[in-house]
Amino acid sequence: MASAVKVSITASHDGGNISLAPNASPTITPTGPRTAKCTVSLQIRPDVYTDLEKIAHMQYFSFRSYVSGLRPTSDSEGIKVLTVQYVIENAHATSYPEAWPGTTICYSSASLDAQDDHLWKRNLTTKYSDGKLSWTHVHTLNGSTFFSYYPPYTYQRHLRLVSDCSAAAATRSILSEYRPLVESLGQTLEGREMECISIGSGNLIAWIIHRQHPGETMAEFFAEGLLHRLLGIESSNSSSSLLDETTQRILTQYRLHIVPCMCPDGAVRGHLRTNSVGSNLNREWATIHEDYPAPLPTRSPEVFAVLHKMDETGCDFFLDVHGDEELPYVFLSGAEKTPRWGERMEALHGYFAGCYGRANADVQREIGYPPPQSEEKALQYMNVGTNQVSNRFDCLGLTLEMPYKDCATNPDSEGGFGPLRAKRLGRSLVEALDGVAPFLRAEGEFWSVFSEEDRYVEPTDNYKEEGFVMLKKRFYSDVRPHDN
Ligand SMILES: [Zn+2]
Repeated sequence: MASAVKVSITASHDGGNISLAPNASPTITPTGPRTAKCTVSLQIRPDVYTDLEKIAHMQYFSFRSYVSGLRPTSDSEGIKVLTVQYVIENAHATSYPEAWPGTTICYSSASLDAQDDHLWKRNLTTKYSDGKLSWTHVHTLNGSTFFSYYPPYTYQRHLRLVSDCSAAAATRSILSEYRPLVESLGQTLEGREMECISIGSGNLIAWIIHRQHPGETMAEFFAEGLLHRLLGIESSNSSSSLLDETTQRILTQYRLHIVPCMCPDGAVRGHLRTNSVGSNLNREWATIHEDYPAPLPTRSPEVFAVLHKMDETGCDFFLDVHGDEELPYVFLSGAEKTPRWGERMEALHGYFAGCYGRANADVQREIGYPPPQSEEKALQYMNVGTNQVSNRFDCLGLTLEMPYKDCATNPDSEGGFGPLRAKRLGRSLVEALDGVAPFLRAEGEFWSVFSEEDRYVEPTDNYKEEGFVMLKKRFYSDVRPHDN
């Protein structure tokens, strides 16, 4: 007798997050002589509770569905096709339930180890209704399929990225004049290294950090694209063509410090926004409440270590790379209305965004977080990385947001804004850094030479899309009060 068809759910890979809903073991129901269906009820596991924001964040999920017992099509008997409806029962209780409409979840049957980024596809049946996120997947083969809010960037892959950088730094002679260095700036609370890759012989100091919010995995794909280009890792050449001309130029203009993952503990745990003790790292860059000193080695050692090093090196350019659940766009958010914001900062911000948009058509300027309404409001957010660093060093500081959804600027319903797009955006940063370099520390009213198309554009989040809930003045992706 043939073994029964089964579907089994796990989230044990690093970065995994899901549980079966209580009392919800999937029941297989035949729908014909060769076909069957079942419903799998799931729940996203919350992050560790955040004291500062009084919430246990959740939204990111990633799991493996293992199907067995299907018979090959050549067999005359048995179930050959299993249609599974996956339902996330607690989607309404997540940090950004408004973000679900328009979301398409990602799936792949490849092994995570293989790093086959192009094999991730979008499930176009994804829908949000009655507070639940659901989609249907037709399984015709036994074996595993991964389903994720965004493709995982595992700790294993992170370690490979760091060792690829170390190997390139040690063995590629063309890099030696740019003094490549891979070092750990400290350790996390769970004992993971805070790796930083530094390269470049120039005077301008650039800091580029990624994945303060661990569930924003696209940020580390971005880091991989950037680091691969800067260190010539994907190039098979060992000659000078290992590094393209623009890369060589920025390496003589800048010394770059790149932290590919700010929150490895949260990343391994499959958290959305916090480290292992519930700290939202992007609210840990300064003390703004007397009873909540930050950063603290015991609560936010990741920020503590990076900020300490930054104070040693100085900073002329800062980019903090994130993902946004809600807006289907790539966009930049600056230090608007903070004390050092003014004509110079506004001009630098606009010019950088212009350069980046010319280098990569996914970058647009019209849609994004609206700036705070007042200087007073902005002061309440000086614990955000971009605001703190920009003011501390009087430098251009920006947050880059990438979409979980498809990217409305250059839509691709099958692939969405997938890992390959995030990596390409990381590589394109080189052109934007090249463009802005002459102005970062320029004297006088240097912006008078900028053209109209490089003017700062104040972003709005008011765009019209079917099913989109209008945002109510959200700042820096803070959670709005909602019923749950
Ligand atoms: Zn974020």
